[in-house]
Amino acid sequence: MSWAVVAHEQVGNLMHVRVAQKRAHIPQVGFCREKNCLQAEFLKAIHELNRIQDEQTRAVIDGDPDFCRFDILLHMAQENKEQRKYAWMAHVEAHGCHDGG
Ligand SMILES: [Zn+2]
Repeated sequence: MSWAVVAHEQVGNLMHVRVAQKRAHIPQVGFCREKNCLQAEFLKAIHELNRIQDEQTRAVIDGDPDFCRFDILLHMAQENKEQRKYAWMAHVEAHGCHDGG
């Protein structure tokens, strides 16, 4: 555990130094770098899934007879998205960084 000086107060001739314990594990409210990274990965996975769905939609509209080839890609993208989601949720659960960020 470490301590940080957070304020100096002049009271008469005495200088009071206020200290607070630095929170080693709990992040500052509103920011957790790792959560942000995991969230970005999750969003990327969602975008990827949407992109493949769009391509399949276009293939069907264009009368592409091979539009079924997208199904395996969609399945993989779906699994990836689920994994990212759980990684993100597991981190937030373990780290307690629910708020903000
Ligand atoms: Zn966190």
